[in-house]
Amino acid sequence: MIEEKEDDISNALHADLAKPRMEAYLHEISLAKGACMFALKGLKNWMKPDKVPSAITTFPSTAQIVPEPLGVVLVISAWNYPFLLSIEPVIGAIAAGNAVVLKPSEIAPATSSLFAKLLPEYVDSSCIKVVEGGVTETGALLEQKWDKIFYTGNGNVARVVLAAAAKHLTPVALELGGKCPVIVDSNVDLHRFSFKVAAKRIAVGKWGCNNGQACIAPDYIITTKAFVTELVDSLKRVLERFYGEDPLQSADLSRIVNISHFGRLTKLIDDKEVATKIQLGGQTDQEQLKIAPTVLVDVPLDTALMTGEIFGPLLPIITVDKIEESIAHINAGAKPLAAYLFTKDKKLQQDFVSNVSAGGMLVNDVALHLTNPHLPFGGVGDSGMGSYHGKFSFDCFTHRKAVLIRGFGGEANARYPPYTAEKQRI
Ligand code: NAD
Repeated sequence: MIEEKEDDISNALHADLAKPRMEAYLHEISLAKGACMFALKGLKNWMKPDKVPSAITTFPSTAQIVPEPLGVVLVISAWNYPFLLSIEPVIGAIAAGNAVVLKPSEIAPATSSLFAKLLPEYVDSSCIKVVEGGVTETGALLEQKWDKIFYTGNGNVARVVLAAAAKHLTPVALELGGKCPVIVDSNVDLHRFSFKVAAKRIAVGKWGCNNGQACIAPDYIITTKAFVTELVDSLKRVLERFYGEDPLQSADLSRIVNISHFGRLTKLIDDKEVATKIQLGGQTDQEQLKIAPTVLVDVPLDTALMTGEIFGPLLPIITVDKIEESIAHINAGAKPLAAYLFTKDKKLQQDFVSNVSAGGMLVNDVALHLTNPHLPFGGVGDSGMGSYHGKFSFDCFTHRKAVLIRGFGGEANARYPPYTAEKQRI
């Protein structure tokens, strides 16, 4: 389906988000194809029972962990990567032997209706169904009893999902978001190759990922006061190279998904305390729903821009005296879905890994950890629970059943009453 309908998928993503064709391919279509291939290759092994050692208490016996499907699962997905975020959990659920109901996001209607049209053409619709709709339809689905609910979206709706799941004791995976920080250490010097690379990677991880509407896009940068001007200059040069003089006209930048998100984002920068802090960008075009890549420096920390997840093309930079302070700053907030650090300092790298809690982390790049199927993808704390990708997707939709098989030998009399004094001496 993915191979034959690549153009339809790409067109739907363009209709929903003006997603550039290259981004649609790199970030959704090719990753979805990769997830299928990885599951097809690994499945035979994943399905095998794991033989485990016997305990002395059960001697002689054989013990194994047998994977079994959970049953019928519900996948509720979000609008920003509407193809990948729907199909990847479905791949995991099918691989693990479940029946699935997929509820794509109504906020990406072209991709949602493409799923409703295509999936029945390619897969057995007695076990994989698509239900389209918004709050009402999702609410009706959530009243049913499921064997697992896999939800991708924001934390407020996650609470609705979790409350509905609690009624039936249904397990959930919640793939949420948050404010993903990027620490940039000044030892990534301006005039050296590594600094250019850092600026390019930050820029593509922010604006080249759906124009910032991505759960693992950088939400804010922390750098030193001494280094911030060089960092802004470098981002400026990179942005001009990527998107030209007038980024609102660039076909390589996704648009904002709808007028309500456009209004939410423009309100964030209309705030007087924020507007004066804009160093790059700030242009908006309501008709096209476009917002230019925007960089701000030292926005007051109590503004809406700095307290909630931005989920758009605005990138504030916080400055600190010493880069080591940035770890305490991150730890003062909710646990992010992803945390990033650019540095050549091995000790700082180690401190970052040891002392920052996040769903995932990446040193000297942005977002790419999600493309390694050997790494679990998921949040911690406010950024979610449960993980998937690669074999973790299979595990997410699998019950690992403990199975012990004994014969009739190996009797230990002490086990049986009466518990005589002689037995108790053992
Ligand atoms: P969304 O508006 O598409 O909502 C997600 C799903 O929830 C949709 O299918 C929608 O129909 C359903 N929904 C919305 N309101 C509901 C309600 N009241 N009751 C029941 N269902 C309801 O997406 P969103 O929430 O705007 O997505 C953005 C958020 O998702 C961000 O916080 C982002 O960080 C996070 N996100 C996380 C991941 C991840 O993999 N961890 C991926 C993408 C987005």
